[in-house]
Amino acid sequence: MEHQRRLPAGIMPDYYSQLPEFLRNYYGRWVWHKVPASGLVKHIADDGTECLSVRVQLPPAGFLSAETLRVLARLTRSYALVGRRTSRQGFEIVGVDPAKLNILLYKLKEEGFTVGGTGKSLHQLKGCTCYLHCQNAAIDAPSIMKVLADHFYDSILKDNYPARLKISVGGCPNQCGGGVEADIGILGIFQDYPEVDDKKIIETGTNIDFLISWCPVNAMKPKETASGLSVEIKQDLCVRCTSCVLATQEGIVMGQARGVAIAAGGRNGSLKKGSCLGRVVFPFVPAVPLDYEVLVKKVEAIVQCWSLCANPGERIGDLIERIGWEEFMAEVNPLPSW
Ligand code: SF4
Ligand code: SF4
Repeated sequence: MEHQRRLPAGIMPDYYSQLPEFLRNYYGRWVWHKVPASGLVKHIADDGTECLSVRVQLPPAGFLSAETLRVLARLTRSYALVGRRTSRQGFEIVGVDPAKLNILLYKLKEEGFTVGGTGKSLHQLKGCTCYLHCQNAAIDAPSIMKVLADHFYDSILKDNYPARLKISVGGCPNQCGGGVEADIGILGIFQDYPEVDDKKIIETGTNIDFLISWCPVNAMKPKETASGLSVEIKQDLCVRCTSCVLATQEGIVMGQARGVAIAAGGRNGSLKKGSCLGRVVFPFVPAVPLDYEVLVKKVEAIVQCWSLCANPGERIGDLIERIGWEEFMAEVNPLPSW
């Protein structure tokens, strides 16, 4: 890993020089890892040296108060080497002193944190911030994530699945909060077509050619009105992607009828069979705050089907590949109580 030690000066901080000496010395030398208990990962180096990490779940949507950050910083400083925000929207406390592990776990519990998400469990429940600061949201991903985390809480703590499970919630079809890359992807969708306000489009001097060029499926065409040029949306082509809303700032809005589509079988990473995108199992499910009862039942139906039918080690996408999409859909749909 010599190249890592000669990073160019550049503008951004050099993370390598900020690492504790122990992690610098073992950079690139980790050859294996074990999961000694739920939420604990023990990395093993080429000379047998071990490094213990604790996987902490964070509140939905990634918003952390200064007080929460202070608590995590204090615990990391007292009992470990560094902290790491993970791509699963969790927090790993890395380089935990084994002699202090129990007191760290006690303190985390005392502060209200959940430790888990390793092995054959629910590894990830991540999503975007939606209404907190995005103008594009169809649904409220953070509240859906909170309700799903409550429902599947035991599965964060226990190895009770055939393999790991990752769930992503994207607030709209853009899916920048995740979606079809996960074992189960929940995507906010708009039921209505965009509504065009000709007056605003004209008054704000919208460049019509530019606006039309934003539509990925060519569903907009120019429309002559008495006061100028606007656009008309061809509903037979529109896929309700919201690009035109973003391109205008004012003048086009999405309708209020919204819900989610639920996809299954996505997977990222290159190990074993590589990445694949999930397919839609439930095209439209109402997302009714704040209990999301129907939505939770649909997700539970997919999880139950997978738990019953999968071989050990098979993720949802692996199960679908083995038994075929039609068989998977037939197994998911007849499940009772929804
Ligand atoms: S997925 Fe949609 S709602 Fe969520 S942050 Fe991205 S654009 Fe906004
Ligand atoms: S919502 Fe998307 S598909 Fe529909 S008109 Fe706008 S840009 Fe085109």
